[in-house]
Amino acid sequence: MAKFGFLGLGIMGRAMATNLVRAGFEVVVWNRGADKCRPLAELGAQVAASPREVVAACPVTIAMLADPAAATEVVFGAAGVLEGLAPGKGYVDMSTVDDLTAQQLSAAVIDRGGRFLEAPVSGSKKPAEDATLVILAAGDEGLYRETQPAFEKMGKKTLYLGAVGQGARMKLVVNMVMGVMMAGFCEGLALAQQGGLDPQQLLEVLDAGAIANPMFRLKGPNMLKGDFAAHFPLKHMQKDLRLAVAVGDELAQSLPAAAAANETFKRARALGLGEADFSALLRAVLGEGKRC
Ligand code: NAP
Repeated sequence: MAKFGFLGLGIMGRAMATNLVRAGFEVVVWNRGADKCRPLAELGAQVAASPREVVAACPVTIAMLADPAAATEVVFGAAGVLEGLAPGKGYVDMSTVDDLTAQQLSAAVIDRGGRFLEAPVSGSKKPAEDATLVILAAGDEGLYRETQPAFEKMGKKTLYLGAVGQGARMKLVVNMVMGVMMAGFCEGLALAQQGGLDPQQLLEVLDAGAIANPMFRLKGPNMLKGDFAAHFPLKHMQKDLRLAVAVGDELAQSLPAAAAANETFKRARALGLGEADFSALLRAVLGEGKRC
């Protein structure tokens, strides 16, 4: 069985690394906060003390980190990925970052003789647990083929999108649509509430019509209950909207709906909702202390 390194055991990384261990791969893990390595160690993963150690021990290392700053620090920082690289080693970054960050990481890895693939994912905590993620890969094609056995144990579909940066762009487009949908959904719930409608009936009406979708169906009932346990942290959704709006800036593509949604998510973060699920946007839209 192949051997894979895994860096970053947050909500997504923990579930993805668990699926690799359960599939029988030899897995070496690292997380900044060492406590998150314990559940993986109990399943049989080896624990390393730094990204450098993981990369030195494995032919291919996968990363699932918070944002561009985290992805960059883990590669360039002390005892980081670059220090463990040797010619031929593969580095697969599955974090959601912007295209420029992906290209910078790729250039640094290739400069050390390594191979780079970006592979952000569509799907949340449950799809990560169920191994039904959609994987958006771009970069080194040989590494893409080599990582396929691991992708098959983490996702239900993998696409190869070409040059490094295209995976990041595809992921940001998808999450921009999702963020705008969530903002519209929250405003609809708030308006229904203010207008004396039963929000539960609004969910029923939405689900029976042409804009029915799994996100409204899954999130809606929990949002009405006030259950905002994080599956996809709000701070990460705001990061993705920020990065998508920046790509729009760069390409002179006007994105008024995404920019407005980004502002609403920023307000939610300012209200202290960053660690909650992104559906907690409802709280920011309703106003302090109000519930549906
Ligand atoms: P998370 O639970 O917040 O985990 C973030 C991970 O990044 C943790 O392992 C954290 O380590 C690590 N990290 C943060 N800053 C770091 C730094 N400076 N140096 C080293 N490690 C650092 O996030 P998540 O939900 O798993 O998401 C991970 C990535 O997947 C993000 O890019 C997110 O946008 C993307 N994504 C998430 C979902 C979702 O539904 N959750 C879906 C698709 C894509 P500590 O434990 O030490 O803090």
